[in-house]
Amino acid sequence: MYNLVVFGAPGSGKGTQSARLIDEYGLYHISTGELLRDHIARDTELGRIADSYISKGQLIPDDLMIDILEHTLNENPETANGVIFDGFPRTIEQAKALKSMLAKRGSKVHAVVGLEVPDEELMDRLVKRGAESGRSDDNPETINNRLKVYNAQTAPLRDYYVGEGKYHAIKGSGAIDDIFNSIKEALRDTRE
Ligand code: AMP
Repeated sequence: MYNLVVFGAPGSGKGTQSARLIDEYGLYHISTGELLRDHIARDTELGRIADSYISKGQLIPDDLMIDILEHTLNENPETANGVIFDGFPRTIEQAKALKSMLAKRGSKVHAVVGLEVPDEELMDRLVKRGAESGRSDDNPETINNRLKVYNAQTAPLRDYYVGEGKYHAIKGSGAIDDIFNSIKEALRDTRE
């Protein structure tokens, strides 16, 4: 059992590094962004609600997001063996909810990997991704808003997890393989 939070700004490489970590550790992957995009693609009621926030670069309200996460944990018993949380939590309230959801299951967050990338590089990466991804939120205006929202609502989580002794800062610039190796090195002592 090992629960890992992959944390960082939009464009910091959470998805890329999570994909590698899944292969390495065999954990269940929950990307809240992917989950919401899947609902948007299927045009579900949740998808329509989610799109009204995502397309503006805003966060989905905490109550709704926490319900979605709890539902995902309940519906997928494999999650009991350990999960990579990619894109969740994004607010202190979500972090507190995650703590109590896992505590109810006799577990906890074991470690948080924080991918740290300078703002100008994030902007460059997101604009480039926007040209390829077709994501409704990868356009310059929305990107700006997502970075602002990140700095205001999500960045404070860094201190929250530093306070819990769980935060591992990783330099998120450079070659993907090198970043992955520094993550593995940082997590070595946190695996049970
Ligand atoms: P991502 O793929 O992680 O960059 O997420 C894309 C968008 O989905 C975000 O900009 C938010 O609008 C929404 N989203 C994803 N995860 C969360 C979350 N934990 N809380 C609130 N909104 C979220």
